Amino acid sequence: MLYITRKLPAKKNIALVAHDHLKEALLNWCKKNREELSHHNLCGTGTTGTLIKKETGLDITPMLSGPMGGDQQIGALIAEGKIDILIFFWDPLNAVPHDPDVKALLRLSTVWNIPVATNQATANALIQSSIFTKEVEIEIPDYQGYLIKRIQ
Ligand code: PGA
Repeated sequence: MLYITRKLPAKKNIALVAHDHLKEALLNWCKKNREELSHHNLCGTGTTGTLIKKETGLDITPMLSGPMGGDQQIGALIAEGKIDILIFFWDPLNAVPHDPDVKALLRLSTVWNIPVATNQATANALIQSSIFTKEVEIEIPDYQGYLIKRIQ
């Protein structure tokens, strides 16, 4: 696979997702980091996004609820280069009905090499790093090159 560079803008497109037992933890994290988050474009899965909006007043676009396709919507945005950071408090201790979608979301965020935090410690590290506020370059698959090879 060849790689090209993508610039993540200073004002990031950030997706926020939390499974049910982690929603309170993510809400508290959003409250604590409200000021930093308010400088970016936010979206989230349906319940998570709506709760964040209600509890923090942050301007966030809720997609569908996770089990109803919200993880897939965010995954599609990642594949299209429209999400720059994923904060995903997924639950390692409880089964969810949309486990394949959860795996797909984590898989696509790895394919497209965006910064991902899957727990609070990493979310803290990410929000304190310059990645959060500055333009940064990431390597992503060279999709055009990939396609040309496949059609030869
Ligand atoms: P929810 O979805 O925010 O609608 O609960 C999150 C998820 O389960 O992926």
